[in-house]
Parts: sequence; C-alpha cells; structure tokens
Amino acid sequence: MMNIYGITRSDLENFLLLIGDKKFRATQIFEWVYEKKVSSFSEMSNIKKNIQDKLADMFSFEKIKIKKKQEDKLTKKYLFELEDGNYVEAVLMEHDYGLSICVSSEVGCNMGCAFCESGRLKKVRDLKAHEMVQQILLVEEDIQKRISSVVIMGIGEPLDNYDNVMSFIKIINDAKGTAIGARHITLSTCGIIPKIRDLMAEELQINLAISLHAPNTQLRNKLMPINKAYPLKDLIEVIKEYIEKTNRRVTIEYIMLKDINDNETQAVELAALLKGMMVYVNLIPYNETNHIEFKRASKDKVMKFYDTLKKKGINVTIRKEFGSNIDAACGQLRSKEVWYENILFNWFR
Ligand code: SAH
Repeated sequence: MMNIYGITRSDLENFLLLIGDKKFRATQIFEWVYEKKVSSFSEMSNIKKNIQDKLADMFSFEKIKIKKKQEDKLTKKYLFELEDGNYVEAVLMEHDYGLSICVSSEVGCNMGCAFCESGRLKKVRDLKAHEMVQQILLVEEDIQKRISSVVIMGIGEPLDNYDNVMSFIKIINDAKGTAIGARHITLSTCGIIPKIRDLMAEELQINLAISLHAPNTQLRNKLMPINKAYPLKDLIEVIKEYIEKTNRRVTIEYIMLKDINDNETQAVELAALLKGMMVYVNLIPYNETNHIEFKRASKDKVMKFYDTLKKKGINVTIRKEFGSNIDAACGQLRSKEVWYENILFNWFR
C-alpha cells in the first residue's frame, strides 16, 4: 500500500486513469486531503463508492506520531516516531515574516561531517515522501497555524534521498497540496555534484544552500568526507553552473568553528573563492554537542570574519540562533532519544 500523503498530484492522476477514472479526481482528492483534512476516502462525498473502494485498497492514511515536543519562546522542536519505530526531528521557528520549519530527510546520515551530531549516528534509511510531508502537516495541526516556509536542513542529506525529496517538494509546493511557494523552500546539501546537476534540470524555483564550511580543499577534506569524492573546486564550478542556469542566488553556509575555520586569512581566502559569484554567505554559530570536540567561534571572531567578507564585497549575514537551549539544533533530540534507547537496551539485555 502507498501512503496518500506521499503521492504527487500528477502520479495520482495517472493512477486514476489506470483504474478507469478521470484525471480531475486527483484535484478533488487533494482538496479533501490537504484543505478539508479528512482521513478516509469514505468521507469524500463527491467520489463514487466503487472508486472510493478502489482507492482505499491502494492508499493508506497512516500517520507518523509526535513522540516529544520541547519549546521556548520562538522555537518548537518535535521528535517524530515513524511507523517502524525510528525517530526524526523537525524544528518550527517563528520569524517576523512567518513560520518556518526545518524538516529531516533521512533517518541518520552517511555524510559523516566531523562536526555534526546527525552524521555521528549513520543513516538507517531514507525518509519516504509522506514522512516528510507529514512533518509539516502534524506541526500545522499541533499549532493550528499555517507554515509559510520550509528548509530541508534537518537530519539527513536530501540529495542522497533524491526521488523522495523531489516528490516531497512537489507535494508541498502544489497549490492544491500545502501550497508553500517554491521561493519559500530551501534545500541544503553538503555538495553531491551529480545530484546538484539533476536538481538544476528540474527547473524548480526553490533556494539552494550549500554547506561549504571551509575556504580550501585541504580543510574541507578534514571536516567533510564528501569533499574527497566531490572536491571544492568542482563544487564551485557546479554552483556557478547552477546560478547561470537558474538565475537564482545560492546560499553558502559556513559554520564558525573555533580555531578551525574562523581566522582572518581564511576569510580572505573564502572571499577570493566566491568573488564575483551571485551568492550570499550565511555565517552559522556552531551548536556545541557533548560528543564532539569542536567549539563555537567567539563573537569577536565571527564579527571580524563578517567584516572581512563585507569589505571584500561578499554578501554576508550571521544566522540568527533558535532554540539552542532546547536541543533544537541539528539532530540532538534524536541523538538523545537513540542514546537513551541504547542504554536501556543494554541494561535489559
Ligand atoms: N546534509 C545537508 C542538510 C542537513 S545539515 C547539508 O549538509 O547541508 C544542515 C546544516 O547544519 C548544514 O549546513 C550542516 O553543516 C549544519 N550543521 C551540522 N551540525 C551543526 C552544528 N552542530 N551546529 C551548526 N550547524 C550544524
């Protein structure tokens, strides 16, 4: 059985044609599911009983569950339990321009970035499209408000789960789905070059963010193993191609790590690397975790780094921080949960 929250409208149209029904039915079904929020085909009163039955044989409305919630003033962090007992997280942030949500794309991650909590736990499996869509639906239901923007920056590497992530984007972007504008959707990647090319070919108007984190390939090799497969020089080339093809500005993410990538020389090097490109750099305060040695760069260092980039004509901002006091950052809630489970498991063995 397929999950109804994971099918795009055009795939649903094809399915309806296959069972001898009409294409427009897909739009009706989407209205029932995403506007009226029903959770069975029998409630869809403008659909004939025999079609309802056929649909019910094919699609389930099974939901993931909110297992835990932590909140502070501007942030709510959700831990979801999936059907198979795995966990992922999403974080809701309240900005002056509306609500944004950071969703996970995989259970764990195989990219193994040295500074990252999610990477420490390794990938268990891809998330299916419906499990990503439902992170948004469940949070909207919980807060009884509409979410206006989505960042795919939670646990996982979205381009390592390409097809599911594309379906997810199509469903949430669909005017009859959750109707989140493409320009309000951001996909963040560590830089899987062939998949960035595929993404380019989709001609979506979404935002692309690249986790760069180092101004040269030697340092990037140490921080991000993906750089050995897809080195910085090639990554910069593909970003240029992406900008050329889509005419969209790309975000460069740069976590500020104390004594690792936060000095003046590195700022100068980064500015030279990005010179003339239609990008903007987002300097990110590092969230320290208990398991990893890296420390957050000092405010003073971050400001100096910022000033240097600015002086060199690079667009740059410093990311506002949300929820570091509620483990909202980067895989920490799931990591804790998995950790507790492992401990319990060992005790009871
Ligand atoms: N795999 C994707 C998306 C998930 S990670 C990617 O690499 O972009 C989202 C962002 O959080 C990335 O920029 C990642 O490098 C960063 N990140 C990971 N651990 C972090 C931490 N402890 N503090 C701050 N940012 C972190």
